[in-house]
Amino acid sequence: MLDPATDAPVARVPRGGAADARDACDAAARAFPAWRSRPARERALLLRRFADLVTERREDLARTMTREQGKPLSESRGEVAYAASFLEWASGEAERVYGETVPASTADRRILVLRQPVGVAAAITPWNFPAAMITRKVGPALAAGCTCVVKPASRTPLTALALGGLAMEAGLPPGTLNVVTGEAGPMGDAILSHPAVRKVSFTGSTETGKALMARAAGRVTRLSLELGGHAPFLVFADADLDAAVAGAVATKFRNMGQTCICANRFLCEEPICGEFTERLARAASALRVGYGLDEGVEQGPLVDDAALAKVEDHVADALSRGARLACGGRRVDMGPGFTRRFYAPTVLADVPADAKVFREETFGPVAPVRSFRTEEEALALANDTEYGLAAYLFTRDVARVWRVAEALEYGIVGANDGAPSTAQAPFGGVKESGFGREGGKYAMDEYLSVKFVSWRI
Ligand code: NAP
Repeated sequence: MLDPATDAPVARVPRGGAADARDACDAAARAFPAWRSRPARERALLLRRFADLVTERREDLARTMTREQGKPLSESRGEVAYAASFLEWASGEAERVYGETVPASTADRRILVLRQPVGVAAAITPWNFPAAMITRKVGPALAAGCTCVVKPASRTPLTALALGGLAMEAGLPPGTLNVVTGEAGPMGDAILSHPAVRKVSFTGSTETGKALMARAAGRVTRLSLELGGHAPFLVFADADLDAAVAGAVATKFRNMGQTCICANRFLCEEPICGEFTERLARAASALRVGYGLDEGVEQGPLVDDAALAKVEDHVADALSRGARLACGGRRVDMGPGFTRRFYAPTVLADVPADAKVFREETFGPVAPVRSFRTEEEALALANDTEYGLAAYLFTRDVARVWRVAEALEYGIVGANDGAPSTAQAPFGGVKESGFGREGGKYAMDEYLSVKFVSWRI
C-alpha cells in the first residue's frame, strides 16, 4: 500500500484469494441465523454504536484515508462524517421494516406480506470513497438482518479494515461483518459462486459491473450496480452565476474530480457562457494544490499514473479538436519527495461535443465547457450519453426546474445544488450507470425479499 502523493509505503496488507473470500462467506452464513433473529431494536442499537465509534475516530480514519487515497484531509473528514451518517440512518431504519396485510377477494382468506433479509450480502467497493461506499451498503444490509462480506478496492484497504475493527468494537457478533482484501477476480468469483450469498452490491466502473452482472447469472444472484457517470451541468442565462460557479467547483473538483457524480460536461446558455467560463477558471485557479495531509490543501494527487495519463489524454484530445485552455492543463511540480500525479484544476472552453472529455468519464480535475442556444438543445446534449447517474441545472426559473429535471435521463438531479448526495435520499443511476438505490428508506429494499403468505381461516 503506497501513498499516491509520495509513493511511500503506508502499510502491508494481506493479498487474499478465493479461499479467503469463501471463508468470509462461510463465516457470514454461519452468523446469519442469529443476526436475522435478533430483535430489530438490538440491531439498531449496535449500528448506532458503530456509527458513534466512526464519528469518535474521525480524525484517525480521515488521516488513514488521505494517506491511502490522496484526498485532502478536509474532504476525508467530510467523508468520515458522511460514512457515519449512513450507519445512523440505517440504525433508524432497522426498526421500520414493516410488512403489510392486503385485502383478499374472499372472506375466508387473509393475505400477509412479510419483508425478510435476503441472506448474506456482499459489498464490492471502489477506492474513491473508501469509507462511505462501504457504510452505504453494510448499514442497510445489517439493519435488514443480513450479514456481510466486504471486498474493498485494493488501493484503499486500510479504511475498510479500520471500519471492520470498529464494527467488532461496537459489539457486532463475529461473522456479521467480514472484510477481505486481495485479488479482485478470484475473490469476486468466489463470492458470486457461494451458495449463501444472495445479494451483491457493487460500486465501481461500468466495465467491471457488466462483468459481475454476467457472472451473477450463474446463481441468479441479486445485484445493485452503482457504476460510472458522465454528469452534465446546465447553466441557463437566468442562473445565479455565483451559485452556479460555487456548485460547479463543488461537484467538479471534489476529490480531484474522481467522483462518480462529478460534472463531466458544462453546458452554458450562449449569452452567459463566456462569463461563466471565465469565473469558473478564476475559481479553479484559486484552488490550493498540495499534499493532502497539509491543512488548507484543496487538491491532492490523482490516485495513480493511469488516472494522470487519462486526464492528460482528454485534455490533449480536446485541445487538438479546437478547445481553448482557460486555466490549468498541466502537472504541478510539488518538488522532491512527491510523485508527479498532481494536476492543476483545468477549465477548457469551446469544447466540441465529439471530444473524448465529452464522451468518456475523465475522473480528473478537468471542466470542459461548451454553449447551447435553446433548452431543447441543452437537453439533447445532456441526455446524449449511455450514462445516467447525476445531472445538474442552474436556473432561477421554477417552471424550468420542473421541466428540465423531469426530462433529464438521470437518477439524481441537483437543481441549483452542486452536492446533492445525502444519507436520507435515494442514490443511484439509470441506463449504464446501473440500478438499485442506496440511501434513505429505499436502500432497505435492496436487502429484503418480499414473502406473500396466503392464509385460509
Ligand atoms: P473498478 O475498477 O470497477 O473497481 C471497483 C471494485 O471492484 C474494486 O474493489 C475492485 O477490486 C473490484 N473489482 C475489479 N475487478 C473485479 C472483478 N473482475 N471481479 C470482482 N471485483 C472486481 O472501479 P474503480 O476504478 O475502483 O472505481 C472507479 C469507478 O467507480 C468509476 O467509474 C466511478 O464512476 C465508479 N463509482 C460509482 C459510484 C456510484 O455510486 N455510482 C460511486 C463511486 C464510484 P480491486 O481494486 O482489487 O481491483
